[in-house]
Amino acid sequence: MTRQTSTHHEVRGGCHVCKGARPMWTGKNALALAARHYDATGHQTWAEQLLSITYGDAGPAQPDMFAEERPCA
Ligand SMILES: [Zn+2]
Repeated sequence: MTRQTSTHHEVRGGCHVCKGARPMWTGKNALALAARHYDATGHQTWAEQLLSITYGDAGPAQPDMFAEERPCA
């Protein structure tokens, strides 16, 4: 039997000084950008990553647990 597996990887980061909790960077290099922004400015930055794995059929879509973040301008 073939196991159906789907993975979702999400990374985002931001600067508490410039944008607060709103993400400024998304994508795989968000952690590096947050570190570089701290190095360049001394601002307190943050980064988080989410890895979710689903086994089996997708079935009906799951409702979002959190409201959609607006992309930074
Ligand atoms: Zn900043």
